[in-house]
Parts: sequence; structure tokens; C-alpha cells
Amino acid sequence: MHEVQEPKKPLYYYYGVALLILMCFNLLAMPYMAEKQVKNIDYGTFMTMTDDKDIGRVEIQSNQIIFTDKAEKNIYKTGPLNDPGLVVRLHEAGAKFEGQIIKQMSPVLNILLSWIIPIGIFFLIGQYMSKKMMDRTGGGNFMAFGMGKSNAKIYVKSSEGIKFSDVAGEDEAKENLSEIVEYLHDPGKYKEIGASMPKGILLVGPPGTGKTMLAKAVAGESNVPFFSISGSEFVEMFVGMGAAKVRDLFKQAKEKAPCIVFIDEIDAIGQRRDGRAMGNDEREQTLNQLLTEMDGFEGNNGVMILAATNRPESLDPALTRPGRFDRRVPVELPDLKGREAILRVHAKRVKTDGSVDFNKIARMSSGASGAELANIVNEAALRAVRAGRTAATEADMEESIEVVIAGYQKKNAILTEQERRTVAYHEIGHAIVAAEQSGSAPVEKITIIPRTSGALGYTMQVEEGDRYIVTREELENKIATLTGGRAAEETVFGTMSTGAANDIEQATKLARAMVTRYGMSDEFGMVALETEGARYLGGESYAQCSPETQTEIDREVSAIVKAQHEKALKILSANRAKLDELSQYLYEKETITGEEFMKILKG
Ligand code: ADP
Ligand code: ZN
Repeated sequence: MHEVQEPKKPLYYYYGVALLILMCFNLLAMPYMAEKQVKNIDYGTFMTMTDDKDIGRVEIQSNQIIFTDKAEKNIYKTGPLNDPGLVVRLHEAGAKFEGQIIKQMSPVLNILLSWIIPIGIFFLIGQYMSKKMMDRTGGGNFMAFGMGKSNAKIYVKSSEGIKFSDVAGEDEAKENLSEIVEYLHDPGKYKEIGASMPKGILLVGPPGTGKTMLAKAVAGESNVPFFSISGSEFVEMFVGMGAAKVRDLFKQAKEKAPCIVFIDEIDAIGQRRDGRAMGNDEREQTLNQLLTEMDGFEGNNGVMILAATNRPESLDPALTRPGRFDRRVPVELPDLKGREAILRVHAKRVKTDGSVDFNKIARMSSGASGAELANIVNEAALRAVRAGRTAATEADMEESIEVVIAGYQKKNAILTEQERRTVAYHEIGHAIVAAEQSGSAPVEKITIIPRTSGALGYTMQVEEGDRYIVTREELENKIATLTGGRAAEETVFGTMSTGAANDIEQATKLARAMVTRYGMSDEFGMVALETEGARYLGGESYAQCSPETQTEIDREVSAIVKAQHEKALKILSANRAKLDELSQYLYEKETITGEEFMKILKG
């Protein structure tokens, strides 16, 4: 449930726009409308009127003559002719020579046209616009109207609020946060002892792991209002606006205390301030305001700030020092047990038939975040509907993992026979190299159905459980497996194809990490040659060595990959008959399971 806050529209904004419209109106529309009431007559009539002395005022312009009748009731205009005696004749007719006839003629109309109507029009437009904005954002978040107001939505306690039980896995984080819930329930207990709660808690972890959900769950469990705002919403176009928003947010929060303020993506404002000459003034001011606000309230006033980020390394140290965000709760990617639990939570919302083995699905989706798992379950349900079934099956789940990993099946991709044969050999090459090395994850499935992601086929390997540390031999085996596809092409066709580009990239990355980060090269040993970039976003690493060393590293990396490539070639030559047999089988079937594969390989 959201409670909407009506933004106050600053009047100066209205005035500014009104002035602008007025100016346009006076410049363009006014003359046009004034001209409208001027009667256009021919020069002959003008001369007749002059002769009849029926002329009041006259204004001779270069391209027209504007004049009135004697009674000055009507305004006329006519084109000028080369008429040298005109001025004399007009003078004799008693005409008054004046400029600005049109404007002077109708002061009432004039005011009406240039002031009242435009203002009226403007107010109608303004009314309409602000109403529309309100409808669209459901809360008047239009920047120009709500400048300086925080966009925090109040998430009022409600029966449908998220509870800890909705967040699967993440037991450590929940345990950590349940203390906050306890405190919000009964602050007195803590005050008595004199213990003060941390003011801010930083939820740190990769995207989609349920940080927002956890924050909402804390609010739901403790039954307090929940303010949520994204850090990027503070970053405004004008310097000082973001700071004003921070001030406003805390004002609102203090009024509603006890409550929870959740700032998502706090790195948008909390980025490390460094001494760069061209700093970002707006961001710094906003951050400073946030720090000031956090210092300003006592630990026990019941406002609890939760913030989320997936780039903790980029946060300003001032933000993470004691007294501010002094508690850090890691929200990591779920482990096997966590994945299974998340799948089960989300599967409750869709119909599944009894056949689904969640443990297996969890094992297949190693490395997936909570959001991705939720997506997998939803994809499975969609697939079941598409097939006209009433419940999602295990096959739906498996397919949707592949969809999430590799994209949809590309039904109409037309590969030539030779291409498909090459892909079959390539995938079987990966699988055989994996199977022939001890300690490799077992092959779960091999397919050569093209996917929308561009993959023409893939070999899925599934670990039995979670892996926390990996040995040097295992990394080497992994690299060998990655080179297995290309090695098979070389063994069978004697050529190379572009199909191995992705394998090459991954193998190189692994080999480079072995040298630069894991200290697994004989040459450098345990020396850190690179520092990791954004840890949770899989960012680039930064080199930390001299250019000469870089050259050495490159040499080491290619030596590692080359050695494993040779090993793969050897394995495949030794299993040449099986390679042919399995590839033929895969070519015909398009998809084979790990069991089928092992049966043929060992049979
Ligand atoms: P974050 O804030 O860490 O990026 P969210 O909290 O927005 O991630 O999670 C996105 C979605 O992923 C949630 O709405 C939920 O459906 C799903 N999800 C993520 N983690 C979990 C979890 N631990 N348990 C259940 N659902 C989860
Ligand atoms: Zn490959």
C-alpha cells in the first residue's frame, strides 16, 4: 500500500511559465488577432472617403495604410500606392496623423487579449498538466513541480507486507536484521541498558539477491512505516536540490518515527569523494547533507536507515565510519540450499505438478541470483501455459533455466548440415574432455539447438554441491574443457572456426586470474598483480604492475592455455572413435542427457 503525498507546487514556477507564454502571445498571436478586426478595402474607396472628409486618424506605413472613419468606429487598411498628393489631401480632409492605431483603438480588447485570455489559458494548461503528472506517477513526482521534495514513497504497514518468511535463504542476513526488528518493537528495552542501535545498516551484495526485499521485510516484521528511495533520485540537475531532498526525507521520517528509511543504490550519492579538480558538486553536497542528517539524530529516535549497494568498494569512507552506516550485512548470491528454498518460495505462486525436483533445478542454476531464480520459475509457468498445460513440469523448469542462461530457442535459425556437424563435434569435444578429467563437474546435458543469445549449442555441466575453493588442477581442467570444443574441430576437420570465441574468452580470463590474482604461476608466485574491480558486478580488474611485467603475464597466460589445449587434443585423439559416435548421435538427436552421454562414452 502506498500513501501518496501531494507535492506543493511552487508559485514562482507558475509565474515564470506564465510570463513566457505571455511574451510569446504578445509577439505572435496579439498582432494577428488585432489585425483580424481591421477591414481591408481598396485604394479607390480610401480616396473616396478622403474626398468625403470621412477620415479620422491615419497611419502611413511602408507596406500599408491604416486609417479610421471620422467617427473612429472602424479601422480600415489598404495597400499604399504611389500617390504624391495624398498627405496634402488627407490633411485637408482633417485627418490626424498618428501611429499605433490598432493598439490604441481598443484598450479593453487589448487588455483582454494580451493579459486575461493568456493567463486563463495558462491556468487551464497548468491544471491539466499537474493533474496528468499526478495520475501518471501516482504521487506527483514530476521534478519541476516537486523540486526539492524527496520522492520517498511511504510504504505503510499492511497485512500484505513482506515478512522474513518470504525471503528464502539469506539466513545470516535475516538473523542480523532481526535484532533491528526487536529494537523497533521495543526500543525501551535497549534504552534502559543504554545500548544504542546502529543508525545505519548497509546491505551489500550483487544485484537481485533480495536486498530490497530484506529491507521491506524488516519494516513488515516490525510493523513500522517504510520509506524507500533510490540514491539516483537524489542526484538532481541543480546543485543543492539533492541536499534539499535529503533534508525533506529525514524530516518526513522523523515525523513518522519509528520507521525505516531505505536508500537503494546508495553508491549513486555515496561515492568516494576524491581530490579531483572537477568534482561533482551536486553529489558532494547531497552526500554531505546525508552525513549531517545522520549525525544530527540520536541513535534512539527510532529512525533506522537501511541502504543497499552492490559496489561497496566505491563508497566514501565517511559514510561507513562508526556512527553512520556502521553495520554491514552481506547479502550474497544464494548457495545450493538457498537456491532451492528460493525456487520453492516462488514455485508456491505458480502451479507445479509433483514431478519437479527442486534440488536438481537448484544445482543446474548455480550462480543464479534470487531475482533470476524468480524469473526461472515464472518462465516455466509461461512455458506451461504456452503448451496448454495446467501446471509447470520439471522439463519446463529445465528449459527455462536454459532460456535465462542462453536465451530462447531460435526455431528458424538455418544452419547448414556442415555447420551443425561442426557444432555437434564442438560440444561433444567439451563434454569428452570434461568427462575424461577427474574432478570435473559431470555433464548434465548437451544440445545443439541454436539460442537467441547467439549460442549455437552448449554443454551444461552441473556440480554436485557448492564449491567454495577451487584448486589449481581444477582450474587447469576447466581451461582444458573450454578448449575441448576447438580441439575437437581441429582433430576431426583439421581447421578452426569462429565458434570458439566465447570459450577462448573464458579460458583466457581464468588463466589470467590464475597468474595475477590466485598466485598460481611459477614465475610470479604469490604476488598480486591485479586488483579486483567492482566485486559484485564482475567488473574489470586493474593492473597493478609495470608494463614489462604485463608482457610477462601475457606470456604466462598464453602458456597456460596452450598447455591445456594440448592436453585436450591428446584426450580427444585417444577417444577419437567415441568422439565420432557421440557427435553423430548428438547430430541426430539435437539434445542428449548426461546419462546417455556417459553410457555411450563408457559403453
Ligand atoms: P536487490 O534489491 O538485491 O537488487 P530485490 O530485493 O529487488 O533485489 O529482489 C528482486 C526480486 O528477486 C524480488 O522481488 C524477489 O522476487 C526475488 N528474490 C531475490 N532474492 C530473493 C530471496 N532470497 N527470496 C525470495 N525471492 C527473492
Ligand atoms: Zn565451445
